[in-house]
Amino acid sequence: MLAFFMEPIQKKLVFVAVAALTVVMSGPCSLAQSAPSQPSPSVLDRLNELAGSKGAWTPDQLAVMARLREAAMKDPYALNQLRHLTDNIGPRLSGSPQAQQAVDYVAAEMRALGAEVKLEKAMVPHWIRGAETAELVSWPGQTPGTTQKVVLTALGASVATPAEGLTAEVVVVDNWQQLRALPPGAVKGKILLFNHKFDKELAAQGSGLHAYGGAVAYRGAGPVAGAAVGAAAVLVRSAGGADYRLPHTGFTGYVDGVQKIPAAAVTAEDADLLKNLASQGPVKLHLTLTPQTLPDAPSYNVIADWKGTEHPEQVVVVSGHLDSWDLGTGAIDDGAGIAVSMQAIHLLHELGIHPKRTVRFIAWMSEEEGSEGAAAYMIAHAAEVANHIGAIESDLGADHPTGIYYAGKPALGHWLRPVAQVLDPIGAETLVDAPETGEDINGLTEKGVPSFSPVQDNRTYFNYHHTAADTFDKVDPKHLNENAAVMTVLAYALADSTEAAPR
Ligand SMILES: [Zn+2]
Repeated sequence: MLAFFMEPIQKKLVFVAVAALTVVMSGPCSLAQSAPSQPSPSVLDRLNELAGSKGAWTPDQLAVMARLREAAMKDPYALNQLRHLTDNIGPRLSGSPQAQQAVDYVAAEMRALGAEVKLEKAMVPHWIRGAETAELVSWPGQTPGTTQKVVLTALGASVATPAEGLTAEVVVVDNWQQLRALPPGAVKGKILLFNHKFDKELAAQGSGLHAYGGAVAYRGAGPVAGAAVGAAAVLVRSAGGADYRLPHTGFTGYVDGVQKIPAAAVTAEDADLLKNLASQGPVKLHLTLTPQTLPDAPSYNVIADWKGTEHPEQVVVVSGHLDSWDLGTGAIDDGAGIAVSMQAIHLLHELGIHPKRTVRFIAWMSEEEGSEGAAAYMIAHAAEVANHIGAIESDLGADHPTGIYYAGKPALGHWLRPVAQVLDPIGAETLVDAPETGEDINGLTEKGVPSFSPVQDNRTYFNYHHTAADTFDKVDPKHLNENAAVMTVLAYALADSTEAAPR
């Protein structure tokens, strides 16, 4: 009732402020030319925002959001789930026993909260890392009778070298242009190193994704490009930031009709070493990689519905990916995304909140090796895309979130303002228009479903990403809770709004 009485006063204040701002913004000249009888909508929008527009939510719903935010900041559930997934279950490579264990564990946890749980099948790659060693066997200035270790890790999907390894000269290029400039036959039978540097300054400024995007092209396409010019194997400089001689793995791709050659990522330090020595004279490397690619294996997306009370058929997806690379335990990539998404269901359960629409937790399978889980979901749910009201994925770590990325109609930014205001006390109030929001929900984004992700501080994310150092300790409990707050508040907001998010 109080809110009801206050509303006209607030509206009046807004009107007065709009009038004042219109004068300030248009200036005396334009006023003389054409005095607008109505303020322009953009000015009104902005003032409504400043005055605390409630938009698609009632004061009670905004209060629920604030309660969810506070509960997320205090509740240890997300942290405990992350600890179990990483320390107890461990690495969760697609097709592995641990990935299956994680599927069963998460499904049981969601069932225990009263969610309606389904496992939806997807066939996923089943690649197993073998031995991975390399040593320099000849180089300028070599001490006779010695070798020198090179630190590397096989890229996901890589084929093997012969079991005894292969020995070949190393050719170093910094980029595609340098490869194209080599004389014909220069790479034939040799080991080709793509020495493209991850832009650490860009990452330090908060644009880690751009730095990653620049480097990852070589990881993905390097083996095909190398095979096309006759290389025996390809090495790429690790796509990542820290200087602790850590190799960063990740998926690589082959194409039909081009020979599959072994591929590994060397550390940044070893890439520098190889480049320096190769500039002085011939360098020979002995490389042994023994991964195996087994037949595709059945696996599952875990789907857990917190059923809507008015429109149960309408769903809001809150998600992360359950699989991880095998070098570490997949804490920041993407155990954290799973844990904060689980927390959304857990807090709805704890606080007894039942939104109008269904909140659908999804633990995606095999994001790292081709997003087979997401592809299977798009096929299985093709007829229900219109009932997907929104989709959220967290897959950029667990550092402090500064706001929300949104992809879809520009109007989403304005629509989300009241939600951003609820997230302001934890510093997550910015709204950032983005072309896409998460690998697993891209299919939904492309079909016009409004999609979202937390804007995470990713300045150090790519230091650990896809390395042996992606472990539980890298996640700050307070930051994890902030991410859980963003996911939970946003999921509730999308699921309970009077009008659905613009699309
Ligand atoms: Zn990921």
